[in-house]
Amino acid sequence: MHARTLTCVGALLAFATACAPVATTPALVDAPARDATYTMDDFARVAKFDAHVHANTTQRAFLDQATADGFELLTINVDYPVFPSIEDQRTAALALAKADPARLHWAATFPMDGFPAPQWRSSVAQAIDAAAEEGALAVKIWKNVGMIEKDADGRLVMLDHPALSPVAEQVRARGLALIGHQGEPHNCWLPLEQMTTDNDREYFRNHPQYHMYLHPEEPSYEDHMAVRDRFVAAHPQLRFVGAHMASLEYDVDRLGAFLDRFPNASVDLAARMSQVQYQSVRDRERVRRFFIRYQDRIVYGTDLTQGPDADPAEFARTAHEVWTSDWRYLATGESQRVDMIDADVPGLALPREVIDRIYFANARRVFVRDGG
Ligand SMILES: [Zn+2]
Repeated sequence: MHARTLTCVGALLAFATACAPVATTPALVDAPARDATYTMDDFARVAKFDAHVHANTTQRAFLDQATADGFELLTINVDYPVFPSIEDQRTAALALAKADPARLHWAATFPMDGFPAPQWRSSVAQAIDAAAEEGALAVKIWKNVGMIEKDADGRLVMLDHPALSPVAEQVRARGLALIGHQGEPHNCWLPLEQMTTDNDREYFRNHPQYHMYLHPEEPSYEDHMAVRDRFVAAHPQLRFVGAHMASLEYDVDRLGAFLDRFPNASVDLAARMSQVQYQSVRDRERVRRFFIRYQDRIVYGTDLTQGPDADPAEFARTAHEVWTSDWRYLATGESQRVDMIDADVPGLALPREVIDRIYFANARRVFVRDGG
């Protein structure tokens, strides 16, 4: 089941190519509404923050495109075997942060090798202390906790394992946020014909061993959500950021209920925009209301990943395409074709102040601690 972890990056590549706008139409909005929203012309000049990227190289293409497009970045280190080693990811993050400390922020992570032995705990404690000293803003716990890592008895290590609690408390005590990625998209537990996006359907058709619908012996979707909720409830002072819309991407109302229940939680949008668009082509107002109601709890993120072997110019083009496509959808009323859900998707035309929060102020508050 474990190479299923490739979904994240695979989905991103599909997203990057599938979401390039091929045609746009002006929105039918009245003049006052248009004045209250941004346009495509505002894209580069408005301050923005992509709070979920992976800059896994010291090459500067990511930083340069972010500069051109007006983004600060949070590059997140992950305990992910397909990525460079955690040490190499950290080295890249520190080099980029040194090159442009105002624009490039980073989140650390830790390995699970040796869990939960005392040596593991002490080396993780040292790593978190060092990361805090080196300017990390957060610590990431990836879905290997819950889906891959096993204890000495061969049982999956879940996020609410008692040995992870001191780690969470240390993250909190050091003033860092904790980014949690638990489970998979809801589609992973559905039959292929019920999946909502083509990238998930194609991936799980080609990799049935990772398609949890076919593996009822593994933890269920609801098991993963319940474990995560217990963890967040157990650490009410921890600033918890649910990566990928806290894996509740399939239902904005359910995600709203999660945010209502846990005032210490925020969510990022990384690699799940098509799931939001799937919902908004069916009920635009429901999705629009979600963003407006939870405008203080949502941080923009993409999951854009620059690996060491990526062609810098090609990567920069992809980043710009993803960023402008998302801006077109969230900030304007323009429509665009989204192949992944086989639909023309009208933009949400969110009010400027909502865009300013989702795209910038929330990430600064949650991660950089502007305004406490
Ligand atoms: Zn990611």
